[in-house]
Amino acid sequence: MNTATPPQGHPARPTRATKRVLLASPRGWCAGVDRAVAAVEKALELYGAPIYVRHEIVHNKYVVRTLERKGAIFVEQTEEVPEGSLVVFSAHGVAPAVHAEAAERKLTTIDATCPLVTKVHKEAVRYANEDYDILLIGHEGHEEVIGTSGEAPDRITLVDGPADVAKVEVRDESKVVWLSQTTLSVDETMETVDALKNRFPNLLSPPSDDICYATQNRQIAVKKLAEEAQLVIVVGSRNSSNSQRMVEAALGAGADAAHLVDFADEIDEAWLQSVTTVGLTSGASVPDVLVDGVLTWLAERGYTDVETVRTADESITFSPPRELRRDLRTPPVDNP
Ligand code: SF4
Repeated sequence: MNTATPPQGHPARPTRATKRVLLASPRGWCAGVDRAVAAVEKALELYGAPIYVRHEIVHNKYVVRTLERKGAIFVEQTEEVPEGSLVVFSAHGVAPAVHAEAAERKLTTIDATCPLVTKVHKEAVRYANEDYDILLIGHEGHEEVIGTSGEAPDRITLVDGPADVAKVEVRDESKVVWLSQTTLSVDETMETVDALKNRFPNLLSPPSDDICYATQNRQIAVKKLAEEAQLVIVVGSRNSSNSQRMVEAALGAGADAAHLVDFADEIDEAWLQSVTTVGLTSGASVPDVLVDGVLTWLAERGYTDVETVRTADESITFSPPRELRRDLRTPPVDNP
C-alpha cells in the first residue's frame, strides 16, 4: 500500500453525522486493459495453455494471478519464451527490437498493446522521420516508456518531470516536439511542458492528447471525491502508474489522506479515525470485484451509505488484436 501526506492549505470540510462512501465513476478497467486481458483469455481458450505473456499484461496483481491460474506464464524477456511458442505482448507496448527478437525465435505473437499507446509510437516514428528531436515526458524505467523510446532511440530524450528540463540537450531548438506516456498526471505534465516551452519557445505539441481518456477521466473523478472526502482509497497496484497518479491527484485536490491498496485487507483501521466520508476509486487496470471487496469491508465498519459521483460517461471499446480476430471469427470445431 502507498501512504502519503497532503499538501497544506485546503479549507476544512463540514463534518457529517452519518458515515458514507463516495464512489467514483468512471473508475477501474479501461478499454485498453479490457482488450489486453481478453486477448490472453481468448488465446488460452483457442490455443490452450501455456500461453506466454511478456511483462505483466496489465499492472495489477489480482489480474496477473488470475491469468496464471488459467495457464498464462509471465516472463520479463522474450528470450525466456521457448522457441516456437506463443507470446502475448502487454498493453504497455514493446519496442520494434522486441518484435524482431520474437521473429528470430520463431515465436507466434499476439500484440495486445493498447491502441492509444500505439498512437504515441506512430507519432514518435513520424517525428523522427521528419528529423525532430522528441522529448518524451514519462517515468524512467516504465515499460511503456521503454517501448516508445525503442521506436527512435537516437531521436528520443526522456524527460522525467520538470526537474529534468534543465538537463535536456537538443540538436536544433527550432525542431523539437514533446510527446508523453499515456498514464501521467495531467497537472504535472503541463508543468513540465511549460518548463520545456520556456527553454524551447518553438516546441511543437503532439496533434492530440497523449495522456489517454481513461487516465484523464479517473484523475478528474478522484479530484471531485477529494472535495468532500477526508480519506480517499484508490484500489490499484504500486507499479500501476495511473493508480499512483490518482493518489497524488486526490491529495492535491484536498483529501486529508489518500492510500493505494491492492486488496481490502491492506486497509488500516486507523485511517478511518474521525472519517465520515470515504472516497473510493480504482486504477485503469483494476477489476470491479476488488472495489466490491473494499465496499464490503467499509460496510462492515458502518459505511453503508454509498453515493456514486459521476464525472464522465465512457463508452470506448477496442476490437481484439489483429492476430486473434480471424480465429475468433472461426472458433475451433471439436472432431467427433
Ligand atoms: Fe490504454 Fe489508457 Fe488503458 Fe493504458 S490506461 S491501457 S493507454 S486506455
